[in-house]
Amino acid sequence: MAKICSFRSFRLFLRKAPLAVKLWIRKELENNYTLSVQQLTFPTYASHGLKKLIVSNPQLHSVLQEHIFAKLKQIMIDSHSHPQFPQYDQDRDEMIRRAFDGEMEIQMICVGTDYEMSAKAVVLANQHEGIWASAGLHPNDNLQEKLDLDLYRKLAEDPKVVAIGEVGLDFYRTTGEENLAFQKERLVKFLELAAETGKPLIMHCREAYTEMLEILDGASTLFGAEKIRGVIHSFTSTWETAKKFLERGFYLGFNGIITFPPSSASRRTTEGQVPTSSLEEVVKNIPLNKLLLETDAPYLSPVPYRGQRNESSYLKFVAEKVAELRNTNLEEISRQTTENCKNLFKL
Ligand SMILES: [Zn+2]
Repeated sequence: MAKICSFRSFRLFLRKAPLAVKLWIRKELENNYTLSVQQLTFPTYASHGLKKLIVSNPQLHSVLQEHIFAKLKQIMIDSHSHPQFPQYDQDRDEMIRRAFDGEMEIQMICVGTDYEMSAKAVVLANQHEGIWASAGLHPNDNLQEKLDLDLYRKLAEDPKVVAIGEVGLDFYRTTGEENLAFQKERLVKFLELAAETGKPLIMHCREAYTEMLEILDGASTLFGAEKIRGVIHSFTSTWETAKKFLERGFYLGFNGIITFPPSSASRRTTEGQVPTSSLEEVVKNIPLNKLLLETDAPYLSPVPYRGQRNESSYLKFVAEKVAELRNTNLEEISRQTTENCKNLFKL
């Protein structure tokens, strides 16, 4: 049965409707825009409880303009970027605006790399809707910092801190037995903090996938597998390795590296010199509900900005490449990866 919807209740409905419903309405409106708004009908959308809607109030025209055409852009989430870094000290606000105000709205997780950068991430996240923070100590970005876990524990209490990271292992940038032991020690403390706070992990892993799996398994035994979860950011290994993380419930994050042409076989990583074609195999095979998009800005700019300072607004180039490799469209990729971020980080 058709239902007449008042101006007020439709506006309330729009405010509360899930993004999928809003996007669907927008599409319907775009397809049927020649219809009079006096008699606009929406076909069944039963899964969200919306049976049939006939909009009868002419005021709705402006509401639709305001709420649907102007604002309800598709959202994508940059699951790993560093907008708090000094590279943006001159133009941070403009850079963030470009992400929010582009063709698609790009929201972001602002990832901490040491105490100072984690604290800055928390401040930035609290200044903006659409930015969240993580707190953690990168395995070798700041070797001088004397780890005080209590400081990170405090940061993690902030409601905008949605993850512990980035933490992990990097056996490429620093080597030597002593250093490896040092990195493992740091990592284990953060795994404990993740288990304690119930927050997911953002993991940095470079040339250390085997050791990482061992440590994660150890932590799962100790704290419970459901407490040790998260994303392996900037994943650059083979499908064989990918499967091992997926089996353990981890998500995998992909960035501009996947846009680099296969001829530049050794990308930033020298992880066993995995050629881009192998990485493409991972992007093609991974279940879409385990894939996260990221920029790792200011690093790793995707083609066509390779080599320049990266920023979250370039996320669409990564998303487009994923869509191309998986033979699907940008809309599906943005919708599902946004959903994935919401599921993992409880946004
Ligand atoms: Zn990073």
